[in-house]
Amino acid sequence: MQNTKKKMELIIHPHELTDRWIGLAKELKLDRVSIHPVGGMSAHETLQELLKTIKDKNFRAQIDKLTNNGIEVGYEFHALSYLLPRELFAEHPEYFRKDAKGERTTHGNFCFSNKQAREIICKNAVKLAKELYGSCNEYYFWLDDAMHLECNCDECKKHSFAHHQLSLMNEIITELRKEIPDAKICYLAYYEGVAIPEDITPNDGVFLEYAPFERYLKPETFAFEGEYLELVKNIIKFFGTENSKILEYWYDNSFYYRRAGNKLVQFTANNEQINEDFEFYKDLGFETFSSFACNLCDEYVKLFGEPDFSAVKNRTI
Ligand SMILES: [Zn+2]
Repeated sequence: MQNTKKKMELIIHPHELTDRWIGLAKELKLDRVSIHPVGGMSAHETLQELLKTIKDKNFRAQIDKLTNNGIEVGYEFHALSYLLPRELFAEHPEYFRKDAKGERTTHGNFCFSNKQAREIICKNAVKLAKELYGSCNEYYFWLDDAMHLECNCDECKKHSFAHHQLSLMNEIITELRKEIPDAKICYLAYYEGVAIPEDITPNDGVFLEYAPFERYLKPETFAFEGEYLELVKNIIKFFGTENSKILEYWYDNSFYYRRAGNKLVQFTANNEQINEDFEFYKDLGFETFSSFACNLCDEYVKLFGEPDFSAVKNRTI
């Protein structure tokens, strides 16, 4: 484990992939740049926009510049509402989840116990993977982006959200590998996904991606200690450290952008925290270190100058 090469990755929005970012990726010796359309409950729409952008020859040329420089390209997004189109509700409400009141709803995710819905999701996931121009063999088809998007039907209630998420990723990787034999897919430990799936084990090709978002939502109460730290360690043990990835928010100016009412605001990297995190996550066994770096685009640089990426540049992992 100690000899495994650690990878470094930063994640930006599609329109931010300019020559400046490609230059930065080289300067910072990134192993990968990932493309992330805006999340939230409209993520299926921003994903559709990305798929249009991917067909553009200028965008493809930018992707080629990365891969030609030995830098991998990834795509990470909340995909469930895209993989199971909401339009199917009119004909097949049973594909969709029951909310807390027991009503079927198109608002996020689906009824995990519905076999036909899962087949549609798997089929669309394979199609989607093949559309991601220049993508590395790791796929990030996250469930929808909010808490409490579980299904409350009697069948789904027999298992946890974590179980259902892993069960779906197991099925998707099985289908994906029929067409892309070396494909891998992440299990995203985020919101209710930060738990150990019960009565199931990960298939080959499913790896852990852990996003400690609570840390930023509730900074005054969050700490990597006690039961929570034990849980994180047990999740890593459950999935194994191979290909495991930490998804941080070290450079996520989109958080502050939204808080400011969709306005670019000056960002200050917390280098002390980032340096401590490198060591902490390395000790936990993570192999890939990634962070959102959205809204630090060319327009940002015109307003505030180049952000401080020195913690990444001088990393010792
Ligand atoms: Zn259900």
